[in-house]
Parts: sequence; C-alpha cells; structure tokens
Amino acid sequence: MADAVVACRDVVQIYASERGTVQALRGVDVDAHAGSVTAVVGPSGSGKSSLLRLLAAIDVPAAGEVTLTGRSLGELSGRRRRRLRRRAVGFVSQRPADNLEPGVPLRRQLRAAARFRQAELAAADELLEELGLSTRAGHRPGELSGGEQQRAALARALIGGPALLVADEPTAELDRTATVDVCASLRRLAADRGLAVVVATHDAAVLAAADRVLHLRDGAVQSATLAGEQRAVIDGAGRVQLPPEVVAWFPNQRVRLEVDPETRTVRIWPS
Ligand code: ADP
Repeated sequence: MADAVVACRDVVQIYASERGTVQALRGVDVDAHAGSVTAVVGPSGSGKSSLLRLLAAIDVPAAGEVTLTGRSLGELSGRRRRRLRRRAVGFVSQRPADNLEPGVPLRRQLRAAARFRQAELAAADELLEELGLSTRAGHRPGELSGGEQQRAALARALIGGPALLVADEPTAELDRTATVDVCASLRRLAADRGLAVVVATHDAAVLAAADRVLHLRDGAVQSATLAGEQRAVIDGAGRVQLPPEVVAWFPNQRVRLEVDPETRTVRIWPS
C-alpha cells in the first residue's frame, strides 16, 4: 500500500435510491502502481464506475479507506480533496463529448486546462505531440474521429502531470482501429510517464494491454488476472467469492470447511 499511487482498503459504497439503499461496493481492496495498467471488468451494475469514482477521489467511500499519493482521503476536507484530485488525477469518461469542450480547438482547450491546473502552457503542445495530434491542434473536437477525440481527452486529462489516470470505458464508442490506438496510448503513457492507469472496460483489446485485470461481481473483487493467470481473491476480511454456478451447489448456503494445515488446503462441503 505504501508505494501505490492509489490504494483502497475494504471500501464500501452505498447509494440511497427511491427503492432503498444500494450497496454498490462491499469491501474492495485495490492497489495501482506507477507504470502499470490495471483493468477493471465486470457485468453492468457490478460496481466498476463506483470504484473508479472512489479511486479518482470524485466520491468518498461510505466505509473503508482510499489513499491517493500517500494522502488518506477520509482525512481531507472536501476542498483539499478536490485540490488533490486536480493535481493528482486525470479522468477520462466513455463519451468523447463529456471529455472535451465541443466548439473549442484542441490547443486552446488544453491551454485553458493548463491555466486551471497551474501547469506550463507548453504542456499543451507537448501532450498533443505525444498523442500524435500535433496536426490537429487547431481542430475542434467535432472535426476529429472518435479515436482522435479520445486521445485528445487523454492529452487534456494529463495536463499538469497527474500520477493517476482513471478511464471509465474509454473505448466503448470506438471502432477496432481506434480502440487499438487508444490501448497503445494507455500502455505508452504508463511506461513513459510512470503513470498508474486504471481503466474500466469490456474490451478484449484493453484487457490484453493491461498488466492486471480485476473481475468485479456484485460489488466485490471475484478474481484477479496477472500475466494471463486468473486467480480467486481473498479480501482483507478473509472472504472469497465463488462463481455463481458453484454457489448453486450449496443451496442452503451453509458449508463445512475442511482445513488441512499440513498441506495448507481448504475444502468446502455442503452441510
Ligand atoms: P457498473 O459501472 O459496473 O455498471 P456502477 O458502479 O455504476 O456499476 O453501479 C453499481 C450499483 O450501484 C448498481 O446497482 C447501480 O444501479 C447503483 N448505483 C450507481 N450509482 C448510483 C447512484 N448515484 N444512485 C443510486 N444507485 C446507484
């Protein structure tokens, strides 16, 4: 946790809705390190956006702890949290239209972002070049392809040199070629800038570009994939989430655990 750019421990998120309260996250642990790409996958409603909003310091958890660049968010006032977010986090959402000012040429809006974040104006041109958009600097978003718009959104999010980039399904509205382009940009930005990248996705190309994949289900991390190997996760409270088809083997949801300290194995029996 100490050297993670962002870490959360046992975070719970609860929303009040007309139908009562919804527990969107039920005790999630995540670490994201400099130079790495972490993908978050899971069915709709599994808690991906809720988790991303916590990691990006947009929301605070109902319980548990989020630490961003060494600062515990729960200890900060709303004002300090927003200041930390502005300095430390770049955020890109699914729809290009939500990431960019529609009628404003790219260089102009990146420079405005630089002024807002008290960064060098030169950062605008550097980032446009880094993302292969130098020849588009005078174009408005509407004059760009979807892929170019999302790369411009990455450039804008990275003004001021945040340590963390959070992207919520950034390729959902892109075609294959543009998706591959955006994936390559995420990988390169993580490596070259030492960024921690956390990306929610359904896309196989994004998953292939990730160092680690976290599989969310019902607001908990069910498993993690590292170097192509998928492993179930035991969370900080000792919970393991069984796949739904396996849960069905235990209809009364009571089990007997057979623990063998000799071989350090555990078997679960219906009871
Ligand atoms: P995902 O991104 O995986 O689709 P979300 O984090 O958006 O999942 O949602 C997780 C759960 O929380 C869902 O049941 C969703 O309906 C609920 N939820 C999300 N945001 C709100 C909100 N602002 N108010 C009430 N319920 C919400």
